[in-house]
Amino acid sequence: MLEPHGGKLIKRIATEEEKKLFLSLNLKKIYIEKDEALDAEKICIGSFSPLEGFMDSETLLSVCRKMELPDGNVWSIPVILQVEDISGLKTGEKALLIDKTDNKPIAVIDITDIYKLNKKEIANTVFGTLDTNHPGVRRLFSKGDYAVGGSITLLNRPSFPNKEYELDPEETREIFKERGWKTVVAFQTRNAPHRAHEYLHRLGMEIGDGLFIHPIIGLKKEGDFDSKIILEAYQILINNYYPHRKVLLAGLSTSMRYAGPREAVFHAIVRKNYGCTHFLVGRDHAGVGDYYDPFAAHRIFEEIPDIGIKIIKFSNVYHCKRCGGIVSENTCSHPDDVITKISMTKIRKALSEGKRPPPEMLREEVADFLIKNFYLVTEDYR
Ligand SMILES: [Zn+2]
Repeated sequence: MLEPHGGKLIKRIATEEEKKLFLSLNLKKIYIEKDEALDAEKICIGSFSPLEGFMDSETLLSVCRKMELPDGNVWSIPVILQVEDISGLKTGEKALLIDKTDNKPIAVIDITDIYKLNKKEIANTVFGTLDTNHPGVRRLFSKGDYAVGGSITLLNRPSFPNKEYELDPEETREIFKERGWKTVVAFQTRNAPHRAHEYLHRLGMEIGDGLFIHPIIGLKKEGDFDSKIILEAYQILINNYYPHRKVLLAGLSTSMRYAGPREAVFHAIVRKNYGCTHFLVGRDHAGVGDYYDPFAAHRIFEEIPDIGIKIIKFSNVYHCKRCGGIVSENTCSHPDDVITKISMTKIRKALSEGKRPPPEMLREEVADFLIKNFYLVTEDYR
């Protein structure tokens, strides 16, 4: 099986004894938001290997400017702990990270750096824009001006909806091994599955021993589908159409960053850590609005060193009447008048009106379920 990014799966989970000790030390408390609590968990269970903590200033600069960690491993997305108030925090000391939504202690940090953020540079390099209409930029600017860096140890898992659908990298690696999957194709999504996704899934199942469908179920932006509904819609598609022995479905509770190409790299590295050998990257991966060229997320993989997971790139996938099925730009050259583009915007609109979108776009079983359970995220990062 594929090695984790950086060669070793990070695991930093406190034993019961250590946990008791840390909680008895009367450490300084840092109250963190849900997305940071989820990031802390992902660091400590190895999803973000080789990261062992929240980034210090040197690491952050290196990631923003060179898309690599100081040790030379490719890394594209800042994983930082933003704070408003740094009074009382000292490097060389430990602090407790407390989830402010429910006061649960999540992790202990060994503080090695406390620094002021250059948010403009982060926004420009990571998101390619300073526009605060961009949800990732808005999030960055709405949080604290400082960051605290240092390795962390997990005390408790954060509470979050749909946790029961998640698997740790250690667990997926074990499942892949048990099933004898030597090649595993990972599919990232934040949407309910339509027919273009299905086309990619089938290609994934042709190429690999198994397909790992791994939707993001963390915090998203207004207008995205509710995570539970996405997971259930996938289950319906799998139950009705896919060979069960070829598919594994699990959620990934990390927030969407909407960083387009850089997030495609991040998503690929994370799936490598879960034990996948291939990663599907479609058109406008992790994009939002029209901030990114739809194929920037393909090109970026040619601009960085090999990250050790094979990237399978897809262009436009649509339905063609002449070909009589779902095809792609690579497999059909018929004119627009026989083509049905598969658009999530159109699908959402039809569903919100209680109508089934055309079957060329969405399976009827999935459509009926989504009409009955139509629910979109109503507020950014909630
Ligand atoms: Zn055609």
